[in-house]
Amino acid sequence: MDPPLGGRREAIERELKKLRAEREELDGRIRLLESQLEAGPAGFNGAAAGKGVGDDACGGSGACQSRVGNGFAPDGSLPADMIYRYSRHLLLPDFGVEGQRKLSQSSILVVGAGGLGSPLALYLAACGVGCLGIMDGDDVELNNLHRQIIHKEAYVGQSKVKSAADACREINSSIKVVEYHHTLKPCNALEVARKYDIVVDATDNLPTRYMISDCCVLLNKPLVSGAALGLEGQLTVYHHNGSPCYRCLFPTPPPVAACQRCSDSGVLGVVPGVIGCLQALEAIKVATGVGEPLCGRMLLFDALSARIRVVKLRGSSPDCTHCGENSVFTEEDFQKFDYESFTQSPMSDKAAPSVNVLPESARITCREYKKLADDGEPHLLLDVRPAHHFQIASISPSHNIPLSMLEEKLPALEASLKEAGEGSALVVLCRRGNDSQRAVQLLREKGFANAKDIIGGLQAWGRDVDPDFPVY
Ligand code: ZN
Repeated sequence: MDPPLGGRREAIERELKKLRAEREELDGRIRLLESQLEAGPAGFNGAAAGKGVGDDACGGSGACQSRVGNGFAPDGSLPADMIYRYSRHLLLPDFGVEGQRKLSQSSILVVGAGGLGSPLALYLAACGVGCLGIMDGDDVELNNLHRQIIHKEAYVGQSKVKSAADACREINSSIKVVEYHHTLKPCNALEVARKYDIVVDATDNLPTRYMISDCCVLLNKPLVSGAALGLEGQLTVYHHNGSPCYRCLFPTPPPVAACQRCSDSGVLGVVPGVIGCLQALEAIKVATGVGEPLCGRMLLFDALSARIRVVKLRGSSPDCTHCGENSVFTEEDFQKFDYESFTQSPMSDKAAPSVNVLPESARITCREYKKLADDGEPHLLLDVRPAHHFQIASISPSHNIPLSMLEEKLPALEASLKEAGEGSALVVLCRRGNDSQRAVQLLREKGFANAKDIIGGLQAWGRDVDPDFPVY
């Protein structure tokens, strides 16, 4: 980097740091003043309502449920400013003051402040839920912002929970927002979820889905569960009014290959937005008893065709190992249960499941490949990513045959290899170094005895060889 640009960058970073520190200080002062106001004699909520950071802010176990509803006076009436704020709710004959009161007395835990959690938390805050818990262990990243609309550019690098909670407080300072800056784990799930009336699963991985379902069964809490991937989404309400739990429907986890994630398959930003809004709606219906929640039914959303279908699910299974009559699954079992090994997949989408199917002799590092290419050794670089990945970025020159088509394209590969010169090496590359191993395995079976894969794929290439290579 040339010095003037480097100097400018440092100046911007210094300015950013200064502004963030000022904002932190202002936030702190605002929270202090707010808590003083609420604790004063005119406050409706007593000392229990406050800034709400961390577990203790919930006021100990059960505190979220036992508070006087936010905004309502002790005699159960709504003051004028609250009538004005929620007037469009109050005008709904089916919702009215009673719906608003129930909502303001309810506590909802949102697990995941990502694509689903963004509109979900914003709506729950805006609508006046009494206590809103938000849990997420991740930080805001730039590639989150196209779908995680609760976060702003200024929060990149900061915790998602803080970003989401600040956004919710900005919309509605009369509700209580509790921050949990960690991921849900068997060791903490029961303690946190116990404090809430309703749990909403806004995560995106299989082990967490099983864990949240088991946790809600043990605590007898309704679970509003949503998922969005690619151009499709779905949602349902588990373990409420006789509806099944996740294990009733899926007693055994699907094979690892069937589990796709946003970081692998992509997702159109608005799709989790649609599902997250519907999750907020279901949570509000469960909290207020208004309408008919999606119990024993699953809503399926197809963005491309703009079709929504609702399919009937079977009811809770009497034989279910977890919610069935004869279940022996205890809180202790839950805390010891290894959800990652049960589902064979990681809880964090940072840790991609990695395969290891090749002998060391069939693999090279990206630095070794760089040297081979720089030395002008005859070789063919085969990129086995899907064509739309290849279009995002590629190493030049390389030859693209997606893994799914490799077998049928072997004759063409053979011809290209001949063109590259007698005795050319065949080096295989993919995004993260998993598919390249599978490809080399196949190639070796089919007679390409010298095929080798590049360890860690383009991700390692960007890290170890070419820092300018785009990350996606
Ligand atoms: Zn069950």
